[in-house]
Amino acid sequence: MDRRMFLRCLGCGAAVATASQTELVPEFLGGLQNACAFDFTKELSSVQARYYKKLEGGGIECTLCPRHCIVTDLERGYCGVRENRDDVYHTLVYGLPCALNIDPIEKKPLFHFYPGTTALSVATAGCNVNCKCCQNWEISQSRPEQTDNLDLSPKALVDICTHRNVPTIAYTYSEPVIFYEYMYDTAELGHKKAVKSVMITGGYIEQKPLADLMLQLDAIKVDLKAIREDYYRNFVGGKLKPVLDRLVQIKKAGMWLEIVYLVIPTLNDTEAEFKELAQWIKTNLGTDTPLHFSRFHPQYLLKNLPATPKKTLETAHAISRAEGLEFVYLGNVAGHPAESTYCPACGQVLIERRGYRIYQNNLKGNHCSKCGREIPGLF
Ligand code: SF4
Repeated sequence: MDRRMFLRCLGCGAAVATASQTELVPEFLGGLQNACAFDFTKELSSVQARYYKKLEGGGIECTLCPRHCIVTDLERGYCGVRENRDDVYHTLVYGLPCALNIDPIEKKPLFHFYPGTTALSVATAGCNVNCKCCQNWEISQSRPEQTDNLDLSPKALVDICTHRNVPTIAYTYSEPVIFYEYMYDTAELGHKKAVKSVMITGGYIEQKPLADLMLQLDAIKVDLKAIREDYYRNFVGGKLKPVLDRLVQIKKAGMWLEIVYLVIPTLNDTEAEFKELAQWIKTNLGTDTPLHFSRFHPQYLLKNLPATPKKTLETAHAISRAEGLEFVYLGNVAGHPAESTYCPACGQVLIERRGYRIYQNNLKGNHCSKCGREIPGLF
């Protein structure tokens, strides 16, 4: 083991020290308990990060996400995929995805974005929060040394899409913000080859990097995990306010936006919260913003809770519609009528879905084929 690898090994402890500035130490340590299984011989990338500043007296401050990690030499930020080397900050996962799959766009879910098409889904290790309900914790809470990584440049990803006729790349599964540079360059190159890009994110990113990134994206889906700060503090390890600010920023930029709210029994499932959520969306984003309520299944650190009852999801749906939201969906309840899109004016089924499959499409371009009402989205 050379000096760099030895110090990188010590960096595990250093990263925990960074995490200790938050309230997430036990969970974070949980993710590192198998630290000896790290493969330190793996080649990681050394592309310079784009959002950080050098601090007087040494060290850097990462300005990519609201966590603003302060990182000294050979330490990593909280997300575990950014490393300070002689006060130059690096991304370690550029071109090193650990998950790659072709999915229906409905699986993201994006329901108003070229329905029935596919997306090449890409993810690297790492995440800038630690949701106790994470569906992909094996990769999101891992370091890049712990995952099996492919070696795929932005060009290689775009080439896969053009050769396989996949119209879109989705940055997804873990948190794409933490592989920002890889996502940005791929999206930029994709646009030159008519390949679209969508980000599936928790929205925990600073204003400037998001503004820059949106120039290369075609749509964003944000997981809004709750409408209360205490939930973000206790079950996400982040803050709600920056996410709400980013949602408004996305909408103001004219970017196509859909929101998913995972309904977790006893944690974020009261009628008061559903009403607050719908009213916030109506006031700040508009009634034409699609809202997906998704069913929770016990996993990761919340195996003690039951799956979301269908009735709770239907209550959330009814409250949101009563508040005036026009496109409200239920997810993870295959076969439910609320998987489909209806015209808010005449009630006709516009897109009939069951699971990720589409059975009818009654849109004429962006309009209802029956009454002519314009339907928001990219169709
Ligand atoms: S992107 Fe990573 S290193 Fe940067 S502030 Fe967020 S968690 Fe910290």
